[in-house]
Amino acid sequence: MDAAHPASIRFDGVGQVFETDSGPLEALRGVSFAVRHHEFVAVLGPSGCGKSTLLRIIAGLIAPTSGAAEVFGMPVTRPRDDVGIVFQKPTLLPWASVEDNVVFPIRHKTGRVGRADRDKAQEILATVGLRGFETRLPDELSGGMQQRVGIARALLMDPDILLMDEPFSALDALTREEMGFELLRIWEARPKTVLFITHSISEAVLLADRVLVMGDRPGWIIEDAPVPLSRPRGIATTTDKVMHDFAGHLRTLLLKRAA
Ligand code: ADP
Ligand code: MG
Repeated sequence: MDAAHPASIRFDGVGQVFETDSGPLEALRGVSFAVRHHEFVAVLGPSGCGKSTLLRIIAGLIAPTSGAAEVFGMPVTRPRDDVGIVFQKPTLLPWASVEDNVVFPIRHKTGRVGRADRDKAQEILATVGLRGFETRLPDELSGGMQQRVGIARALLMDPDILLMDEPFSALDALTREEMGFELLRIWEARPKTVLFITHSISEAVLLADRVLVMGDRPGWIIEDAPVPLSRPRGIATTTDKVMHDFAGHLRTLLLKRAA
């Protein structure tokens, strides 16, 4: 771990048990890992293995039932401004313009939006490729563009940590790949710690420095593996033999994932 920068995120033996009508449901058990400053980590696992639960703990939306979850060396107790979240669906306000959707968290928090906030929103919309769309309504945009609005909203406060929960899974395959490269470009231009949840092996390998592979029932980390690919990554990476072999290794792990 870099001495000047303690781990951005650290889990130590985190467990999560939900009380349900049919009894306790153990969603996570003994989850431990650390994410370094400005590292890009993908969390890969089957549906229902606890990926969103893990992200919601980091975001301060739920408290773990056992173990310790820390952000910047401090226990997570509530959502923080320096942690941005992008969900699978961007949950945009249908009646508000693209720009108003992006500044919405500021309006929600402070009750007013100033000129500087709007300037910032316009700059970020340009970064995500939406210059000229500021006054449009969400319905007038494609799914990929709507997801960019969600990303712009999460980037508005320039968070040190960006949590992304299957952000591209509702998009068609080509748009999805394009958005992945776009995200890498944004991450390189504005470095930040990224925790990217996906159930796509190729997406995890293409984007991340490291992949945490999760198994289910209850959710646990099967493997914490560095991605053996240099940067920058691009179209050529997708046909790289090293990528293909590493993806094959992850696929094997996922197929025999039971604890
Ligand atoms: P993933 O994101 O990997 O698909 P989740 O973290 O959403 O998985 O869910 C993991 C498990 O925990 C699932 O069995 C899910 O039904 C259960 N779960 C998630 N949230 C709750 C909740 N608030 N109450 C009860 N069970 C939940
Ligand atoms: Mg999920």
